[in-house]
Amino acid sequence: MSAMRIGVLALQGAFREHIQALVRLGADAVEVRRPRDLDGLDGLIIPGGESTTIRLLMAEYGLDDAIRERIGSGFPVVGTCAGMIVLAKHVDDEASPGLNGLDVQVHRNAFGRQVDSFEEDIAIPALGDTLFHGVFIRAPIVESVGPGVEVLAKLPDGRIVAVRQGSVIGVSFHPELTDDDRFHRLFLSLIAARETTASTTPVCSSPTAVGEVR
Ligand code: GLN
Repeated sequence: MSAMRIGVLALQGAFREHIQALVRLGADAVEVRRPRDLDGLDGLIIPGGESTTIRLLMAEYGLDDAIRERIGSGFPVVGTCAGMIVLAKHVDDEASPGLNGLDVQVHRNAFGRQVDSFEEDIAIPALGDTLFHGVFIRAPIVESVGPGVEVLAKLPDGRIVAVRQGSVIGVSFHPELTDDDRFHRLFLSLIAARETTASTTPVCSSPTAVGEVR
């Protein structure tokens, strides 16, 4: 099987570290700056940075429409920190002009000034029993989730910091800033599982074939 081809939105923020994590896992990592860079990708990572800047630059290059369209047809996307903010449907009580990939309400810079960056080991059951080292940098939290959104992780005080809706994942923290690759590995395995299902599910069965299966 050829290597998986994963794009990393490279307009602003911590995209290089995501690329390094993907390369460590044997994926082809592609910097995405224009809509045509999305062609042929198996998935996309939107990194942390400054969500207002990322959103403006996406709009300027026509990437917002291109990504939104793909998300509508099931394209796998991960957003970390600012990346999750641009995927959210609601940001700080307002409808977000973002990508609308996650039916969640997020609150930006949720941890206040003094403690706006911190690290904490968190339980993420989808990654196994070993806690994951969460690096939170002026991080958002998820205040509420709509139907169809699965909560992947919470802080010990119950605040939601990782969610999944279909093939879109959002996390408050920066998995690319640790050398624990389990999070990126999870994304690649979700894509692989999705592609296997797609290739083994018949698009259309003839009446004869259905009769044979019975
Ligand atoms: N505070 C930033 C924002 O609101 C996100 C910070 C981050 O991505 N590390 O966009």
